[in-house]
Amino acid sequence: MTDPKAELRPPAPARGDVPAERQCLRCKATFWSAGFGERVCKRCKSQASWKSGSTQASGSSRRSSR
Ligand SMILES: [Zn+2]
Repeated sequence: MTDPKAELRPPAPARGDVPAERQCLRCKATFWSAGFGERVCKRCKSQASWKSGSTQASGSSRRSSR
């Protein structure tokens, strides 16, 4: 016998998947991270040296269509 209400409950958000101040993995500077996927400050992201797992290839700007 399963409780139908259990399915209505929203899943608990992953730990750390909330906007918070985090430390940049590159420059160790404290910055405002919008979520779990943001581990590097915008300043470092904008640098060309940042290319670890990045989907932003030079010349490809389809993601900015929004
Ligand atoms: Zn940084």
